[in-house]
Amino acid sequence: MICPVCKADMIVVEYHDIELDMCAECKGVWFDSGELELMLKTHQAEGIDEFLEEMRNSTDAKTDEKKRKCPICGKKMDKKDVGKEPEVLVDTCDRGHGLWFDGGEVVQLSHQFSSGTIGHPDNPAVGFLEEFFGTPE
Ligand SMILES: [Zn+2]
Ligand SMILES: [Zn+2]
Repeated sequence: MICPVCKADMIVVEYHDIELDMCAECKGVWFDSGELELMLKTHQAEGIDEFLEEMRNSTDAKTDEKKRKCPICGKKMDKKDVGKEPEVLVDTCDRGHGLWFDGGEVVQLSHQFSSGTIGHPDNPAVGFLEEFFGTPE
């Protein structure tokens, strides 16, 4: 798959049966539809249903950030704000192909999990995210 930001070939990373496409250049991450959900649910993160629901229902974010194209269908993706303070801007394909996180955004999100802003501070998904993407600076 080609990175929607820098057009580099992404690498497939596998972790506990979940496959992610990561860009080694910009550190962006693509989750195929359902993979983020699967990952978080596998790790039994509390508050995840609410979080995913909120993300699906959130209105398009107002931002000047350039729209990215879905690596699967090539259509422009929508920007969604997820999480709280700071909100993380996620790109989603409205055809349901998946989610794109810019480099560093997954780390911000995992920080929100670890600080208890989303879900529960002890939830095991945090360990997963931090192991995978590193701890926030
Ligand atoms: Zn890239
Ligand atoms: Zn798509």
